[in-house]
Amino acid sequence: MDIYAYIIVITAGLLFGSFTNVIIARMPAGESIVSPPSRCPRCREQLRAVDLVPVFSYLFLRGHCRHCQGKISPRYPLVEALCALLFIGVYLRWGLSTVTAAGWVFAVILLAAAFIDIDHGIIPNRLTYPAIVMGLVLSFRTLAFLPALYGTLAFGGLMLAVAFISNGGMGGGDVKLAAVIGAFTGLTGSAVTLLLASFSGAIFGLIIMTVEKTGRKTPVKFGPFLAASAYTAFLFADAIASWYLGFL
Ligand SMILES: [Zn+2]
Repeated sequence: MDIYAYIIVITAGLLFGSFTNVIIARMPAGESIVSPPSRCPRCREQLRAVDLVPVFSYLFLRGHCRHCQGKISPRYPLVEALCALLFIGVYLRWGLSTVTAAGWVFAVILLAAAFIDIDHGIIPNRLTYPAIVMGLVLSFRTLAFLPALYGTLAFGGLMLAVAFISNGGMGGGDVKLAAVIGAFTGLTGSAVTLLLASFSGAIFGLIIMTVEKTGRKTPVKFGPFLAASAYTAFLFADAIASWYLGFL
């Protein structure tokens, strides 16, 4: 991968990361993600074009609003940088292809879902419903339509069953996110995602319980584990599946 490709991929990742921040901030409140232009959350002053340059504007302004000097959360540049990393990962794995374009869309959806779940404990339908449609449409140029449809129905259906059995332990947002993951990664990707998310979620839950030393009743939010696992599956599902099946 030459230097120009890196520059283009990183720039695209930062810009989409900036858009992801807008989704994370506005979608749970039911606000439009296209207008009005971004404002400082504290003084409501509209941001200048130069303040919208991802990561660099944050560093340049040293994490403070130009107008009210209020502190800007380091979460903004973090999400932007994370998005750029996710874009690089997809590009390194799938090269200049439609799969990479689909992977970038998927990365933005997963990143937004994970952070909205962390912030609010929900994953909005306004994110997941269009994402299922996008996954199924893109599948014509990636997995093929039927594998994507089977993935959506199987993973969404399985998680729906878990939601019923667990009686609210698994939220409706997780069910719909699973349907999104099925559409983008198919049956193998869904199986690998479930495996990785269950392991990582369980280990995290045990650590939390040990650290907090409480009989914690509020369940660990599963969305971020689903999202991270689904991204990993998008890149390496086949390799992970054959490695895992080698043990059986
Ligand atoms: Zn301000």
